[in-house]
Amino acid sequence: MLRFDVVQKAFNKKAVEVDVPSERQSSYFGELVFNREKMQRYLDPQVFEALTACIDGGQPLSQQIADKVAEGMKQWALEHGVTHITHWFQPLNESTAEKHDSMMEYDGKGGMIESFTGRSLIQQEPDASSFPSGGLRATFEARGYTAWDPTSPVFIQGDTLCIPTVFISYTGEALDYKAPLIKALKAVSDAAVPLCRLFDPAVGKVHSYLGWEQEYFLVDEDLFAARPDLILTGRTLMGHASSKSQQLDDHYFAVIPSRVAAFMRELEIEAYKLGIPLKTRHNEVAPNQFEMAPIYGECNLANDQNQMILNIMNSVARRHGFVVLLHEKPFTGINGSGKHNNWSLGTDTGIQLLAPGKDPKGNLLFLTFFVNTLAAVQRHNALLKASIASATNSHRLGGNEAPPSIVSAFLGRTMTEVLQKLVELPSGTPIEIAGKKGTSVGIVEIPEIFLDNTDRNRTSPFAFTGNRFEFRAVGSSANCAGAMTVLNAAVAQQLRIFKKALDVELEAGKTLEVAVMDTLKPIIRSVLDVICFDGNGYSDEWKKEAARRGLDTETRVPEMIKAFCSPSSVELFTSENVYTLKELEARNEVKWDIYSKKIQIEARVLGRMATNHIIPAALTYQNVLLKNIAMMKEVYPDSYQQKAAVALSATEQISRWVSEVQQLADKLLEACRKADAIEDEYTKAQAYYEIAESLSALRDPIDKLEEIVDNDIWPLPKYRELLFIS
Ligand code: ADP
Ligand code: MG
Repeated sequence: MLRFDVVQKAFNKKAVEVDVPSERQSSYFGELVFNREKMQRYLDPQVFEALTACIDGGQPLSQQIADKVAEGMKQWALEHGVTHITHWFQPLNESTAEKHDSMMEYDGKGGMIESFTGRSLIQQEPDASSFPSGGLRATFEARGYTAWDPTSPVFIQGDTLCIPTVFISYTGEALDYKAPLIKALKAVSDAAVPLCRLFDPAVGKVHSYLGWEQEYFLVDEDLFAARPDLILTGRTLMGHASSKSQQLDDHYFAVIPSRVAAFMRELEIEAYKLGIPLKTRHNEVAPNQFEMAPIYGECNLANDQNQMILNIMNSVARRHGFVVLLHEKPFTGINGSGKHNNWSLGTDTGIQLLAPGKDPKGNLLFLTFFVNTLAAVQRHNALLKASIASATNSHRLGGNEAPPSIVSAFLGRTMTEVLQKLVELPSGTPIEIAGKKGTSVGIVEIPEIFLDNTDRNRTSPFAFTGNRFEFRAVGSSANCAGAMTVLNAAVAQQLRIFKKALDVELEAGKTLEVAVMDTLKPIIRSVLDVICFDGNGYSDEWKKEAARRGLDTETRVPEMIKAFCSPSSVELFTSENVYTLKELEARNEVKWDIYSKKIQIEARVLGRMATNHIIPAALTYQNVLLKNIAMMKEVYPDSYQQKAAVALSATEQISRWVSEVQQLADKLLEACRKADAIEDEYTKAQAYYEIAESLSALRDPIDKLEEIVDNDIWPLPKYRELLFIS
């Protein structure tokens, strides 16, 4: 089909009607989740109690109880037409995995029954030898197993009961994102509780919260289908800039296009049934870019919900004639997509530890967590960056629209001033920090309307926004657990270090207030000097200044990844029981391997499209020009050079660009062959880093050809079509 026909077809599509349930949203919210309400309804009281003790207090479940839980789940599932069961897990290839088993079993009497036992609820052994493991599973121990994570509720997708699980090797090493996250969440709670108890003895647990903001692009499916690069790599590897892109800022927060609004509506209905509390939806900065965000929740569950949304988004989109692009940078020269991770801590007694308190004591507790979070980010800035480093996210970081590739923290004017005042006070000064209502005469004050007071700095990767920190460097396609595991573990370690130092002061007989301030002060001084930065993160001066401050300024992904195995990271993860050295090394192998493969695919696709799409189109047009020249020569033998000047110059340009395209494509594919021969994953990733850098060299002449070749002949949907039809 000619490109124009495809464009016309896409343009003429109308919004698809959505089947909106007649009940209120709140009445079907969580309908497909085996939540507490279902547990109560489908389980005996003592089974319910044992299960909640397991979920809330980590008590083990006996086989007998597990059988009863499975029985209740089965009854609920059958009422929803479920036929299959799957353990649902998050392997290291940045997607989720599921292997469905039918509930059908022989009943021993010549017939069949539906069966679901505690055993199959708790554990499965998928033959999962094809998932990345970084060598953790040699062939003789190829099996990994999945184990139920009871803290994340079972849910129904289509005809299948999905059981969220961790994925572990036969020898106990984590092979997924969930297991380390759960460990890091435990570490941060264990480290935070003793500190909180100094302020509120009733605290029993500290929760880590995550509110993700998911950005994405929508592209019409007919246009998408005509772009092999989008199909195979998720981004456009070529494409001349559209005359209009985002310069007018007329897409941001604008009226949502009707086809897109219908898609969002249907996605929300599906999300609500799955208990995902979507709250916000809007147009983003780039054309055809959008965002959604739920109400924040407990980190492990919120992350599962993000993974669930990523899974269902595309099937919903297809019903509306769209394909979702989750790639961090689908279009060059236009904003990419991130996934801000809003993060905070809170106690089971209801204290928000990263929000200013109601009274002086509450504010001291807030400052303790606030400052220690900054110290953790400072110590592990290179590691935090490594946690979000990937081949796809590398296009976004450091481009002047997303965080730069240096992790620093932005506090806003109010909190910067509070910290500056605090360090100036003479040591030992009894300090009361005025609360919201100014109930005490405080020397240092945290003003009231705090949430609205926070100024914004778009260039900061880690920003305080009033009651939480926002880690903005996470990629749109990433599993949030990668970043959240590092952040929670780092904060856990810092809280422990702090508590130890605080105990020394307390043992010296200081009051809690004085002891906390005296322990905090040197840390405050250090974070103000090093990690806190409120200037322009894109500037070259900042790169120099950051290096002077000792912050990590590495921009090459294969090098960034190394931070996972640095001595300070190994110390962090082993002391907090999050990763063993063996797991860390294996994960780095996986990261390098995935990095290389992603670039390899891009290079191959680009090389082949150059040969199969671009050169033929350019030569077709050149033939038209040559015919024109030949005929001119026939009719005007004396003046054809002047009369056919435009055509002559265009044929020459085409010849030049075409031969450049061919040469660069050959060179690229040759470089891939060389890189593929390298055994060591790190060295191979280094080679692919160079290849990644050279992709744009091949793109340049292709984009130049797009500019001069007849619009009717150009085979690929152009940026102006991909970005402005919806
Ligand atoms: P903005 O774009 O202004 O940053 P959004 O409303 O798009 O804000 O997203 C903010 C996200 O932060 C939401 O998911 C919200 O639920 C979450 N959030 C709010 N408070 C907290 C908190 N204390 N801890 C974690 N996440 C939070
Ligand atoms: Mg937002």
